[in-house]
Amino acid sequence: MTAPVFRFAPSPNGELHLGHALSALTNERMAASAGGRLLLRIEDIDIARCNPEFEAGIFRDLAWLGVAYERPVRRQSDHFAEYEAALERLKKDELVYPAFMSRGEIRGAIMDHEASGESWPRDPDGAPVYPGADKQMSQRERRRRINAGAPFAWRLDTAAALARLDGHLSWREWADEAMDGVAEIAADPLQWGDVIIARREIPTSYHLSVVLDDALQGVSHVVRGKDLYFATSVQRLLQQVLGLPQPGYFHHRLITGPDGRKLSKSQRDTGLAALREAGETPESVKAMLERRASDWPHKGRSSP
Ligand code: GLU
Repeated sequence: MTAPVFRFAPSPNGELHLGHALSALTNERMAASAGGRLLLRIEDIDIARCNPEFEAGIFRDLAWLGVAYERPVRRQSDHFAEYEAALERLKKDELVYPAFMSRGEIRGAIMDHEASGESWPRDPDGAPVYPGADKQMSQRERRRRINAGAPFAWRLDTAAALARLDGHLSWREWADEAMDGVAEIAADPLQWGDVIIARREIPTSYHLSVVLDDALQGVSHVVRGKDLYFATSVQRLLQQVLGLPQPGYFHHRLITGPDGRKLSKSQRDTGLAALREAGETPESVKAMLERRASDWPHKGRSSP
């Protein structure tokens, strides 16, 4: 039997904070108790926002916390060709379409709609879903715009992808202890509308890179914060249309700030570097993680 594979996959677009520490330590603990391996992946497809200092900070903070992971470390920006190959496959299967609408056009379409008194659907993160008007565009018009140099992203035709699976996307199989058997109610990939599969400037997106890397690295257990719980629905759909193996999922509780809100990378006081400079130790940080209020109502059950 092969050993379970876990991964911690931060983006170097800010400093690691207590939420990341919880993720890394939860992965480490679960991997150890399952006799598994722990990988580190640097998710830096967003070249404009990621930088080497933040990446160095990830290595430094993990070393300080004492989290050990296997080498080599996978860096997503080294693998654009692999993501592009999967994008080509989705294009061939007609599961993605070029999406030309600019932010302004999207806003305009939503405002027109809401002027009629009806609200516009929002995704689980609260953002308006993509209108998808260009899904119906003729091949000829698409070619014309592309040849004219119009910028576009590739979006998943979520309904078509689901139809391709004949309804075989099963929620009940999720190994999500934190959700304790209610996963099938909350997680519907259609809630996201047509997500971006490849951005205007790069041949991939967060969702595409994550599912490909999890498969290519043989990840069997995805352990991450509950903020990504809904994203899992899209990622499972992508895995299934791409014929990739499906890992189990565990979404741990989130660490919230004093205002009860999710931590962000701009909140310096919960950054691991700032805590270290203030004299905290890895032990005191771990104790802090135990104490912090959870936004998950069943505190304790979702803890590792
Ligand atoms: N890179 C993502 C983040 O830093 C996490 C991706 C994942 O765990 O699937 O939020």
